Amino acid sequence: MKKNISSIPKVDKVLSLSPVVSLLETHPRPTVLAAVRNVLAALRIDSLNGTLTAAVDENHLCGLIVKELESIVAPSLHPVVNGTGVVIHTNLGRSLLSKSACRQIQEVSERYSNLEMDMATGARGERYTHVESLLCELTGAEAAIVVNNNAAAVLLALSGMAAGKEVVVSRGELVEIGGSFRIPDVMRLSGGILKEVGTTNRTHLKDYQTAISEETALFLKVHTSNFSVVGFTAEVTIDQLVQCGKEKGIPVMADIGSGSLLDLSKYGITGEIPVQEYLKAGVDILTCSGDKMLGGPQAGIILGKRKIISILRKEQLLRALRIDKMTLAALEATLRLYRDERDAVAEIPTLRMLTVQPAVLKAKASSYIRRIRPKIPSPVTLTVVAGNSQVGGGSLPTLDLPTFLMAIAAEGWSPQQIDSAFRQCKTPVMGRINKGQYLLDLRTLQDADIPALVEAMEKLG
Ligand SMILES: *Cc1c(COP(=O)(O)O)cnc(C)c1O
Repeated sequence: MKKNISSIPKVDKVLSLSPVVSLLETHPRPTVLAAVRNVLAALRIDSLNGTLTAAVDENHLCGLIVKELESIVAPSLHPVVNGTGVVIHTNLGRSLLSKSACRQIQEVSERYSNLEMDMATGARGERYTHVESLLCELTGAEAAIVVNNNAAAVLLALSGMAAGKEVVVSRGELVEIGGSFRIPDVMRLSGGILKEVGTTNRTHLKDYQTAISEETALFLKVHTSNFSVVGFTAEVTIDQLVQCGKEKGIPVMADIGSGSLLDLSKYGITGEIPVQEYLKAGVDILTCSGDKMLGGPQAGIILGKRKIISILRKEQLLRALRIDKMTLAALEATLRLYRDERDAVAEIPTLRMLTVQPAVLKAKASSYIRRIRPKIPSPVTLTVVAGNSQVGGGSLPTLDLPTFLMAIAAEGWSPQQIDSAFRQCKTPVMGRINKGQYLLDLRTLQDADIPALVEAMEKLG
């Protein structure tokens, strides 16, 4: 017990060591002090656990302090290499922004902007006008408003349309989206009263019809984004629900989650109904995310009838959910790319990664290996294997996209050890393990990741 604890120096002593003195010349004293204290505390714990096997050496100690200081001053939120093949990876930041979206964020952030100013009249304007006409042009909606994320969009829409009233939802659509978005909870928060109809696997039009009462404010259809019910199933189509709503005078809302603005079926991405189709079917209001299939920044998009959008514009809640100018800049730039489908698919990273063909990924694998191979230790082997990638972000959960991957192996390293070592690099590398192989999917690797990949693989030498 307490082995070597007496060899751990006091803080004052450490601060007088010459490598630490030079750190004090380039960093604020409290920052250096924090690094010293963290390192000494860790050594004390090692000593109490009996894992401090030798007396503390001053050089070693200073090395630890330099490393600790580096990690304290480095940004906590930083880039990661996504080799998982999951394109819309919620834990790794969902969609990457296009170059033009990044440029536009910088433009309006480094300088003042016309965020809420009508330049024609000099009067106060509305931030939402910067994307409203573009959204209407692209989708055919009458009106639009944008908020912080889709959870906020659903909350605002329910609160504005159904507070104190009943909202009819199929039991098959009471979904939970990762990160604790649950339809029944959002409903409660909005003040709407959930009126469940049908069963988990089967809901019929007559279930909606018989649920109608004086208290009914809305029919809500929710996209079952991240799961699929198979077997003996029945659901009411959006066309049927809209028809029924029209007959009974009840508005229809659709929370479609991902929100694809293009029909991607010609690229093999099937099963996602584009936003335009829902609006054409006649839904009164629709909500979707900005950073899933749309490939923009985190945002919630609300499209629909002018009468309803103007009610939502007046909601107090909107002020708390409002979109930031950087998000607005990125969203506008992303939407502009959709004016030409070729631009959208080529320049929006999410769409580019989803639609890239396997042959291109195979060539990319060979090219990456050619560039990486000469820079890494020879015991590391890199081979190309075929496999599948996923869309992610709670979109198209059953769709497998054929892809190519780099299998990485090294003498004396298990796939789990490689995974752990790669995750703890300065620029962490995230891959996956399948059938005893450590794999990086070329679909989600970026050219800018190559130096980080080399650095990670150097560890295996
Ligand atoms: C993802 C999703 C949400 C939540 O959207 P965020 O943009 O993450 O807030 C809500 N509803 C559905 C159906 C979804 O797929």
